[in-house]
Amino acid sequence: MKLLLVLSLILTAALLFVSFAGAGELAPNELGRFMILEYHKIDYPEAQWTRTPENFRRDLETLYAKGYRLINLGELLDRRISLPAGTTPVVLTFDDSSPGQFRYVERNGTVEIDPKSGIGILEAFKREHPDFGRGGTFYVLPGASKPNRLFNQPEYEGKKLKFLVSQGYEIGNHTLWHANLAKYPEATVREQVAEAQVWIQRYVPDYKTRTLALPHGSYPSDVSWVLKGAAKGTTYSHDAVLMVAGGAAPSPYSRSFDPVRLPRIQATERELAYWFNYFDKNPTERFVSDGDPNSVTVPTARRDKLRDEYKTQRVVER
Ligand SMILES: [Zn+2]
Repeated sequence: MKLLLVLSLILTAALLFVSFAGAGELAPNELGRFMILEYHKIDYPEAQWTRTPENFRRDLETLYAKGYRLINLGELLDRRISLPAGTTPVVLTFDDSSPGQFRYVERNGTVEIDPKSGIGILEAFKREHPDFGRGGTFYVLPGASKPNRLFNQPEYEGKKLKFLVSQGYEIGNHTLWHANLAKYPEATVREQVAEAQVWIQRYVPDYKTRTLALPHGSYPSDVSWVLKGAAKGTTYSHDAVLMVAGGAAPSPYSRSFDPVRLPRIQATERELAYWFNYFDKNPTERFVSDGDPNSVTVPTARRDKLRDEYKTQRVVER
């Protein structure tokens, strides 16, 4: 009897050690790559542009278990990466403001977030795992026709945008109604971008979109048109432009980081499996935080990959 007890104690200790070692075994490498995941519909059935609520929840579980932690794109662009040592930033993006991404339901006279909508799932997961971090960018379409106009519940449009901003999510620019920017002259491109921001500001005054996701992944003839300008009585300025594909993104500390061409990974079963497996097999390719937002930790052999401006910051080689 006593022996059994001792054995089970040893086994428990061993299991604890294994799970602990699993979470903390990655050495810091802030020149590694990170994933910007791209979701469209959270709905049924599963398809190329649709992830079911159950599969979305499973994605969060997999990310969490593999040591990925949520962060906002803005924090990465600012190189303000405040994550525990040994973890990897991951950015969630949601395009086209489709209904399943964020839905309110009425129950017994009160209005609550639908637990099966994207935001419902994400909020519940964060409550259960407070160390998962927070963040996510919603590239909304304020002037699209149904069902893509601001999540398709006109009475709650303002409530939703306010909720997103107050809870630490970002609202991104995806043009007013998903215009293919390659097809239009400068004036139209600028109006599409500016007007999307004007509409967002009707609900969240003074909110400025910081990043733009290209509808259909199509660049305008001159990318500067979407980066900075004025139209429709407002000024806009974007620090990054997101594509619809391209794989994992380079570290924001790396010379190859190009904020005007940020690649994304479509959150399909196949793509996710590919990249989870890729980083499991190539852990040295993965961005791993050193736990200190004020220093950049890089493998000595890769120091020359660092952008010049960060060579003056405290660089820790290992
Ligand atoms: Zn889109």
